[in-house]
Amino acid sequence: MIRERFAPSPTGLLHLGHGFSALTAFEAARCAGGEFLLRIEDIDRGRCRVEYEQAIYKDLKWLGISWNEPVMRQSDRMPAYNAALAQLAKLNLTYACCCTRKDIAAALSAPQEGGDPVAGPDGTVYPGTCRQRNRMAATNAIRLNMRKAVDHLGGVENLSYFEQDQGKTYLDPEMLIQSCGDIVLARKDIGTSYHLAVVVDDAAQEITHVTRGMDMAPATPIHRLLQALLGLPTPIYRHHRLIRDDAGKRLAKRHDAMALGKYRDEGKTPQDIRNMVGL
Ligand code: GLU
Repeated sequence: MIRERFAPSPTGLLHLGHGFSALTAFEAARCAGGEFLLRIEDIDRGRCRVEYEQAIYKDLKWLGISWNEPVMRQSDRMPAYNAALAQLAKLNLTYACCCTRKDIAAALSAPQEGGDPVAGPDGTVYPGTCRQRNRMAATNAIRLNMRKAVDHLGGVENLSYFEQDQGKTYLDPEMLIQSCGDIVLARKDIGTSYHLAVVVDDAAQEITHVTRGMDMAPATPIHRLLQALLGLPTPIYRHHRLIRDDAGKRLAKRHDAMALGKYRDEGKTPQDIRNMVGL
């Protein structure tokens, strides 16, 4: 049985790109006689708003999308994330990091580090300052020691995932170590991170197919690695094209001009939305 999901963050109004993503996943599930689930990714309490969550339900229903109840809300899932974090800590693969953003920027610009900061799929690669040191200050984050994680698995060259348009895709240990680095597993203010939560929740919801935008594709090797470390199953991935604005820029939450609700208020129909995104 195929299970797809749509996992928006209620930090703004859904726009055309979200509509495309949700419709693509929903229809893939429906055509295969499968199930479609909804997950509200609201771990960042400071940025999430109840009214945006309500707007998500309204917009999706308007598009004709229905989902299995109950909706999973990440803010209810802290115990599951803590358990996963404890599992990784028990393997001795995590460490407490007390760096602030400023500390990281300073370490990266120090001459002995050499060269320009590396920006990988997870943003600037952490220079590893806290990897060796005993914690001196308050913990700001829990990080994964990426090299240790790769070694723990006896290398990752044999680990793969299925990318719908590209076939079997193997993990590259050097890419993980050099371009992703010691990723954050839990931020002090949030208690988890996007990567940890998404992997734990896709497994809990028994998602077999992850349909999401191409902008998320670079995070997939990190997700595959975490699945291997935590002993979780790996879904099939499909990273679809992105809907862009007239200037060719990827739509962001600030693109309220392209919000689904705005089109609805203007009298557009769900079919108009489909036409606009090429469905
Ligand atoms: N919550 C993410 C977003 O709104 C999507 C995460 C995912 O599909 O893996 O962009």
